[in-house]
Amino acid sequence: MNTHQLVFDNMVRINPQTAMITMNEERVAMFSVEALGVLRRDLISTLGKERAKGFLLRYGWACGEKAAESILSKTNRKSLEELLLAGPSLHTAQGLVKVEADRLEVDDSTLYFSGYWKNSFEAEEHQHHYGSTNEAVCWILEGFASGYLTKVFGKDVLAHEEKCVAKGDAHCSFIAKTKEHCEKVHQAYDRYYKADSLANELDHLYNELETMNQNIIASDKIQEELTNVFLEDKGLTETIGFIANTLKRSIIIDYYKKEIESVFVCEEHKDAYYNWTDKFNYLEEDKKISKHIK
Ligand SMILES: [Zn+2]
Repeated sequence: MNTHQLVFDNMVRINPQTAMITMNEERVAMFSVEALGVLRRDLISTLGKERAKGFLLRYGWACGEKAAESILSKTNRKSLEELLLAGPSLHTAQGLVKVEADRLEVDDSTLYFSGYWKNSFEAEEHQHHYGSTNEAVCWILEGFASGYLTKVFGKDVLAHEEKCVAKGDAHCSFIAKTKEHCEKVHQAYDRYYKADSLANELDHLYNELETMNQNIIASDKIQEELTNVFLEDKGLTETIGFIANTLKRSIIIDYYKKEIESVFVCEEHKDAYYNWTDKFNYLEEDKKISKHIK
């Protein structure tokens, strides 16, 4: 099968006059994989692992989809199988991973594609920054495979990484299937691809931090005011009154149906409490609660 020829015929060209590099007539740029690893690490530190994973999967998908568009537009009509196998060749040519196809089964509506990812830069960089993990981490590669195969096959295809060097396996390996034939756990990956853009991810994160910050400020204020209440030697009524009004919650202190102190912030809470106590009889002798609906 002449799959490599699809990719390597117009491999990399460097124009010294314009300083532009092209691959398959598409402009590309060269980056250090170590620098990509630092970017990846910073995304995880900034966004948290789950959000960073989603971002990297979507980035990989965009790269794979773009690669597929390039292949589809610049090659003469080839068989579907050849086009599908050109993806791993192109991915390999980019220097991020060596893809070795293992099994490809395809008909009009079903695709199954498995293979190996060797020398994955993602696994290497993840290990470099985080050491070994208990999950597969080659998210950009998963996204690339999913985006490429979906574009070429014309139906949703999801790739997941089964084995990963970062979790101690000898090599990384993947299985890609048409979405409807994926196990539920892998179909759930769809949520990453349908998630928000990075800008929205950052907005959500900022809002969460802002809420946390407001809660911390409010919590500090309550603590300070509560300390003052205690220092001023206020009584129980005033103390729980302060807490109830601050938290906007009714507070009742009772001992086996005997109300010791209470502060209700609304009539509804008061009615609910007395209605509730009316429905219970307490057995003083063994302190058990006997539910008795009147
Ligand atoms: Zn991996």
